[in-house]
Amino acid sequence: MTTNTSIRNNLKNIEGNICNACERAGRKREEVTLIAVSKTKPIELLQEVYHYGIRDFGENKVQELNMKQEILEKDIQWHMIGHLQKNKVKYLAQYVKCIHSVDSLSLAETINKEGKKAGRMIDILVEVNVAKEETKFGVYIEEVEDLIRKIAVLENIKVAGLMTIAPFVSNSEENRMVFRKLRELLVDINLKNIDNVTMSMLSMGMSNDYEVAVEEGATHIRVGTDIFGERHYNL
Ligand SMILES: *Cc1c(COP(=O)(O)O)cnc(C)c1O
Repeated sequence: MTTNTSIRNNLKNIEGNICNACERAGRKREEVTLIAVSKTKPIELLQEVYHYGIRDFGENKVQELNMKQEILEKDIQWHMIGHLQKNKVKYLAQYVKCIHSVDSLSLAETINKEGKKAGRMIDILVEVNVAKEETKFGVYIEEVEDLIRKIAVLENIKVAGLMTIAPFVSNSEENRMVFRKLRELLVDINLKNIDNVTMSMLSMGMSNDYEVAVEEGATHIRVGTDIFGERHYNL
């Protein structure tokens, strides 16, 4: 394998940043999982990141996810982080670790149906559009509890937590309240004691703002550019 010193250095820097953010927040490093967002990136770069110990990868296109999953090591945990069409759920139901982008009951019902066929429980996160950006997917904060109550009765789905994509800002501090609100929402909903719902995952924070997200309680950060460099969509 040809190794790439910049990826190694990037991972080292990110690791240091996560540790520092955990320390500032009085959290343990083990509470945070780094998901390497590898969309558009070639297999060899994923293999390199794997070589450095990363086992969680995130993709946003079903076809690309399937292709990479078939080729790469079977102990990888694959996270579907992009908008998911119902007719494609069947292609990842066998193996996906967690679907981060559930924002409708009908999508959840399809995931449940495919989970049943595959003979497994599928972990999902409800995607929340905290900042009510018109261009983004996800449900608004005030709709989340109702959606979760409806999903909670589906037998082959586990509602594992909440996910958000924060606004693109130049100063990551501007997203602190977005992350804080998502965490408070998770705590509030857990306190309602809904049958089958004990959420523990908070998927929030990307290259631009993962340190703030960790300070605010992220359990899963989704980092692409800071690991792999800029994405080029003309591959
Ligand atoms: C692409 C993507 C990321 C990673 O973004 P970077 O800014 O490259 O770290 C994280 N989450 C989602 C949902 C994405 O689509």
